[in-house]
This record gives sequence, structure tokens and C-alpha cells, in this order.
Amino acid sequence: MRVFKFGGASVRDAEAVKNVASVVQEYGKGPLLVVISAMGKTTNKLEELVDAYYHNKENKKVIFQEIKTFHHNITDAIIKDENEYYQVDNLLIELECIIEKRREESSTYDMEYDRIVPFGELISTKIVSTYLNKYGVKNRWIDARNFVITNSKHRSASVIWEESVPFIQNSLRPLAERQPIITQGFIGRDINHKSTTLGREGSDYSAAIFAFGLDAESVTIWKDVEGIMNADPKQFSGAELIPKVSYNEAIELAYYGASVIHPKTIQPLKNKSIPLFVRSFVEPFLSGTEVIENDSRTLNDTQCYIIKNNQSLITIASRDFSFIVEDNLELIFSKFNEVGIQLNLMQNSAISFMSCFNANDTKTSALLNELKDKFRVNIQSAYTLLTVFNYNDSNTQLEKIINKREIALEQKSNSALQLLLVD
Ligand code: ASP
Ligand code: MG
Repeated sequence: MRVFKFGGASVRDAEAVKNVASVVQEYGKGPLLVVISAMGKTTNKLEELVDAYYHNKENKKVIFQEIKTFHHNITDAIIKDENEYYQVDNLLIELECIIEKRREESSTYDMEYDRIVPFGELISTKIVSTYLNKYGVKNRWIDARNFVITNSKHRSASVIWEESVPFIQNSLRPLAERQPIITQGFIGRDINHKSTTLGREGSDYSAAIFAFGLDAESVTIWKDVEGIMNADPKQFSGAELIPKVSYNEAIELAYYGASVIHPKTIQPLKNKSIPLFVRSFVEPFLSGTEVIENDSRTLNDTQCYIIKNNQSLITIASRDFSFIVEDNLELIFSKFNEVGIQLNLMQNSAISFMSCFNANDTKTSALLNELKDKFRVNIQSAYTLLTVFNYNDSNTQLEKIINKREIALEQKSNSALQLLLVD
């Protein structure tokens, strides 16, 4: 049993869907479960729709129409049979009915989000499944929400493994052994049968959840890049493919912000030693990257560059000149946690604490409010965080990348060098 995952870019238009079909046909021999995301930027559009719907804005119909037209353009190009077309269209009608009605007063934003946004994945998989059936890959469309059972934390639900795994093992596996399964990433259901989502970009994680439950022999994530690279090829001209990387290194890369795979993806695979392949759907004949169990380092001399733009730098000092140690730090961290700010780099001295995080005006002002009585707080924007993972002193690129920018914070651990650069 193998699991494939295709992201939004791989199904962004009719030609792309055809390409996915040929990749599945050519490389998906044997028992297979295919996880697919919403098409192109549909999830962003659906987020706009949720916002318009929730606040009962005039433009909700316009946004819905854009979503409908986008999908119709694709179905018009690849689905000819009327009955098949209706199956896709029914989902759009269902979505339209939801947004036409007024929402219940008691419903929260996040609940409405999880009721509406999953349609991106449902429609996408319906289209791909229908096309694949016609194209000669007889498959079965499955609603992932029947198998991925989560808690009720809408928009960032946690999987309840004891509930999900038996369903996947006992009910889904026999079906998957009979014919390829097409299903959604990103979505699940709580024990009250309400839809939930696993957090943006959560489809990789879904692939890992299914692989875990199915005891799959491997997972392949098909992307628009050759595999896992040592830097983002859009930002670094000399980016190189990493042919092999260990689970631990992949987790660390994700932690530092390399947008290769969703950070939660690795753990379930590691627990069952299921290898992960990252390959290109544009050049599927290339071997890509293999993520394998290996406690020692596999990267050897390859240094990886990860850039996070748009960082804010915060400096916190106590008003009463008390040291910034355990008690103050405890308070400071709890406030970061409360307002939902994740720290990307931290540095602590006797009377001040400095850190950087992804700029966010709303969260920043909430934080300021919480801290201002006890601390002097200074926040500045326009920084870039550069992480060199697997850094060693022989590095010859660094000067060029820093490019004479001032360094506001610097930190070196045994696996990474991190520099916060002034833009
Ligand atoms: N469609 C969802 C998103 O764009 C999930 C995913 O693509 O992984 O965040
Ligand atoms: Mg997506």
C-alpha cells in the first residue's frame, strides 16, 4: 500500500489535472491512496468567502461566483458526461445553500470556517476522481472526514488516533486493497460529526495520518520542485537537491521554516519507519528526495539556507530593573502564548529579552497591552531571519547573502547559525 499526495499547485487548472492523472497512472501501480488538496489558490478564496459570509458582507455572492467559475472552467475542459458533471456541481450547490442562509447566531468564526473551507478539497477530489475514472484509472472517491477523527478545535484540530486508526485499518484498508482511493487532505470530523480542519497546508499531514493507519510502505509528496532543496530555488540561484535526508533533519528543517513539508507530517511516519519521497510532478521521472530513518546526519557538508522575511524584533526590559530570569520569563512566554505569537529566535541578557517573530499588527498590539504595565517594550519591523542549517565554518556563501546588512541578533547552535538581518 502506498500513499500519494498532490498539493494545490498540482491541480491548479485542467492541464495540471491531466498531468496528475498521468502521474497516477504511470507511477501509482498497486494498492494506492491518493490525498489531494484544493485546486490552486482555492483555500485562500474560500477564506475570503468565510469572512464575507460570517460578517454578512455584500460581496459574498461575488466571491462564491469566482469560486464556481474557477471550477467550472476546469470541469468544462475535462468532464464531458452530464451525470459526472452534476456530481461536482452538487457540491457547489451545497456550498451556495450554506452561504445563502443566515448563520446561526451561536456559531463561531472557526466553526463556520470548518463548514465552508473543506469544500475546496471536496470539489477538487471529485473532479480528479471523475477524470481519473474516465482516463482509465478506476478509483473510488472517499470522504476523508469519515476516517480522520479529530478533537473540536476548529481550524487547528488534533487527530484522535485511537478513533481514526481503527476506522482506517478496518474499513478503509480493505477498500484500498481493491481499488485506488481518492480522498482529501486537510479535513476531518469531530466526534459530533462536525467538520474540522488540520491547519493551513495540512494535506501533507493527512497523507501521513492515512499512511500510519494503513501501514503503508511509503508516502510520496508530489511537488512543483525537484525534491527537498538546500534553499528555495526562487530565492537562491545555486539551490541544490538533497537526495537523502533523515527524519530528524527534515523535522529541524521544517522547524526553521523550510516550506518543504508540513512539520507534523514526519512524526507518524517516523513512528512506523515509513519512508517519505518528495518528487516533482513536473518531472516525475526524477528520483527526488528520500526521507529516511537515520539517526546520524545524512546531510554531510550540505548547508541549507532558510529565509523568513517580514520579521518583527521585540526588546523587553523590566521597569523595576529586576533581572529577566525565570519568573519574568515565565510571564513573558505566557503572554506570547496567549496572543498566539510564535518566536523564531530568542536571546536573553540580564535585564532584557529579545526575540523575533512573523510581523502581525493585531497580535503585536494585543501583546503590548498585556506587557506594558510591567515592562518597557520596544518593537521594530523590517527584519529578515536567515537560518543556515548544518552550518560549518567553511561556508563561503554567507558574506554574499548577508550583503553588508546589519546583524541585529545572532545565534549559533551545533546544528544552525541564525542571523536576524536589518532589511
Ligand atoms: N488546501 C489547504 C491549504 O491550502 C490544505 C493544503 O493545501 O495542504 O492550506
Ligand atoms: Mg492548498
